[in-house]
Amino acid sequence: VLMFLVKPLLGEVRFTRIDKSRGAGRGVGGIVYYLDTVVHWQVILFFHTLGRLTRLAKKIGRVERAKVFSVSGDLISIIHDFKREVVNHIEARPSQQKSHLKESYKFISTKKPKIAVVGSGPSGLFASLVLAELGAEVTLIERGQPVEKRGRDIGALVVRRMLQLESNFCFGEGGAGTWSDGKLVTRIGRNSDGVVAVLKTLVHFGAPRNILVDGKPHLGTDRLVPLLRNFRQHLQGLGVTIRFGTRVDDLLVENAKVVGVKVSDTESDLLLDNQKLGFDAIVLAVGHSARDVYQMLHSNNVELVPKDFSVGLRIEHPQELINRIQYSTLANEVCKGRGKVPVADYKVVKYVDEEGTDANSRENGRSCYSFCMCPGGQVVLTSTNPSELCINGMSFSRRASRWANAALVVTISWKDFDSLGFHGPLAGIEFQREFERRAALMGGGNFVVPVQKHLIIYSILALVVDVPPSSYRLGVKSAELHDLYPNHITEALQNSISMFDRELPGFISEEALLHGVETRTSAPVQIPRNTDTYESTSLEGLYPIGEGAGYAGGIVSAAVDGLYAGFAVAKNLNLYTGCI
Ligand code: FAD
Repeated sequence: VLMFLVKPLLGEVRFTRIDKSRGAGRGVGGIVYYLDTVVHWQVILFFHTLGRLTRLAKKIGRVERAKVFSVSGDLISIIHDFKREVVNHIEARPSQQKSHLKESYKFISTKKPKIAVVGSGPSGLFASLVLAELGAEVTLIERGQPVEKRGRDIGALVVRRMLQLESNFCFGEGGAGTWSDGKLVTRIGRNSDGVVAVLKTLVHFGAPRNILVDGKPHLGTDRLVPLLRNFRQHLQGLGVTIRFGTRVDDLLVENAKVVGVKVSDTESDLLLDNQKLGFDAIVLAVGHSARDVYQMLHSNNVELVPKDFSVGLRIEHPQELINRIQYSTLANEVCKGRGKVPVADYKVVKYVDEEGTDANSRENGRSCYSFCMCPGGQVVLTSTNPSELCINGMSFSRRASRWANAALVVTISWKDFDSLGFHGPLAGIEFQREFERRAALMGGGNFVVPVQKHLIIYSILALVVDVPPSSYRLGVKSAELHDLYPNHITEALQNSISMFDRELPGFISEEALLHGVETRTSAPVQIPRNTDTYESTSLEGLYPIGEGAGYAGGIVSAAVDGLYAGFAVAKNLNLYTGCI
């Protein structure tokens, strides 16, 4: 029976191994021999299949390698195009700057410099890409996890309220922008060489081509995740060593020059098990949520300068309401992002003076504006510490959720830090912390977000009014948000909301809900660096880049900073000569 069953699988089976002299074909012995034969053929079949699969896998591997190779070739051409653009740009400048052009555009890689890039956000990834393409030995160090594991950690946060301190909405592969709206709009020039090079590179790693032409290009989390996986594979193909779950805790400094980093493993409990790694240069691309890094730099006497940034609240409306405000009758054609017109967004900015009236210009007042608007998105938790609460917004590529959210923020400066008794280079961070802690207390813990319908100062109704539903998954609690910030900030927010309502009639609505708090709009600190070399002005060998260093604000501008920084570091380390 067995033979009958397996025969069709085996094809032509010959029982040549059956040895009659050992009693094959008769009684139990015969069955044993038949089974033996079957097993024999099954083993042959198994190895035959394995062989075929291996050959197939090799074939696929060859194709994959070919694909990677062609991507690599294209990337090199993007980088070369980019360099050419930079040369043209410099040629168009006044003659005294042209001396750079005398330098030849030749790679001079005699010895491979060892470079650590700390942080795998957009700035760190692009710096690593340029440096690896130019031949450096790059180690990319990331405290968080690769996107696959990070996705699971974020899932556990959203579903089970488990915040992983090192793998969350801010930390992990791709940086803060991975579980984001993926807006690729930037204020640094839509068609500038750097922006075009970044967008083209994203297309090579899987972004849709329309980001090259769309007025407001957008990716969404679901597209960012596979794109980052391709980016990672490409870097690994170039020989970049990527160390996830590894946090840089300190710098190794010798003779006023940084010569390496101390790292610890964030996955094991052996956080104190510091390892020392030596490098020729450290590119610091840690984003602005790495408050421990600012502290560490401060203790290493690296110059840090407090910087203006913005704080406020996040407002959420039903998307339908925003569509109606923006499109009027056309709104009916908006079918969850798949209709004839895309889901509507908005961008509002006003300048409010001390009296709370329209100041018309930045010089005369505090600017109040909408920021990081996520149509068809959701409000998410961006805390990196359970006792602090802050939020942001994200969306998927189809932007199909029922909600539209945006931060409404007000610029603040050292005067605001001072008024609360926070001084010194890290005063802005203390300011952020203070209001994140207050928000956590107002929410009552467990990542519940305090919300309020109308920002009415001294409102006794705040706690008893029913609040509309929210997209925020971990729960909201009616609270006196008007009591959270100092009065002058609340008033500025309140007045600007009234002005926004004049611009977008219906913006103040019973269906709108304010969520607290939005504090991490940009870095509260700048790490001064040399304009040409990108090297820290206070520590040789340290290259502070991206948003955390105060040189970018958003995915694209951080990536562009990383791109330029890559060339600058390569030039400093004599990887190639050229102008940048
Ligand atoms: P980050 O992206 O912050 O990357 C820094 C990386 O460094 C992180 O991965 C971190 O884990 C790692 N790191 C930190 N400290 C250490 C250490 N000690 N050792 C090792 N690694 C370390 N911008 C947009 O343009 N469009 C958007 O739609 C948008 N939406 C957003 C939504 C959310 C929820 C958030 C949080 C941000 C959003 N942003 C958006 C902002 C954008 O993500 C940032 O401007 C951008 O990611 C900054 O890039 P970066 O490389 O400078 O730093």
